[in-house]
Amino acid sequence: MNENQLREDMARLCKSLFDRGFSVGSAGNISARVEDGVLITPTNSCLGFLDPGRISKLDDDFRHVGGDKPSKEVFLHRAFYDTRPGTGAVVHLHSTYATALSCLSDIDPEDCVPPLTPYVVMRVGSVKLVPYFRPGDARGGDLIRVLEGRYAAVLLANHGPVVSGKDFTSTVYAAEELEETAKLLIMLRGAPTRLLQAADVEELKAAFG
Ligand SMILES: [Zn+2]
Repeated sequence: MNENQLREDMARLCKSLFDRGFSVGSAGNISARVEDGVLITPTNSCLGFLDPGRISKLDDDFRHVGGDKPSKEVFLHRAFYDTRPGTGAVVHLHSTYATALSCLSDIDPEDCVPPLTPYVVMRVGSVKLVPYFRPGDARGGDLIRVLEGRYAAVLLANHGPVVSGKDFTSTVYAAEELEETAKLLIMLRGAPTRLLQAADVEELKAAFG
């Protein structure tokens, strides 16, 4: 996809996320690969009001080469691009329910979004809880690198979700699926709940990859 089209798509879909409450204020940051680098939302920008031409551009070594100053959470994004070959986009939100899940003290850190519906299995996969670190602390990138690319999505403890994927649109959709699943999990807390069985999950992986 050409860069100008991707800039327009980023502004349009980020506004949609903002309008539907997936992001408030200047929370959240989103990046996508282009032929000669990465586009990422600028620091302190509101996803609802992005100017396509001012979205930050980084080169292949993540040096700032154009647009406004990039998000200070760029190291989170880089950790995914570096450890998961084929990553085309990374979406980090502070969406309400996924963030609520990241604050619970009794979730399984190895699988903090259990297989409630087929769609979260197909679009997100298993989700690892990454231990808390201060926002902007580049050591947070190391906590993702040690996972060696095994997870497309993580929850940052007491902070929010980070989702990677092969292209911009499907990665946004995966982040939306994660948020909706987190909402269901919070709604169902305390109620006896049937999860998909291991065989169901294997069948989905076999059918949808
Ligand atoms: Zn954040």
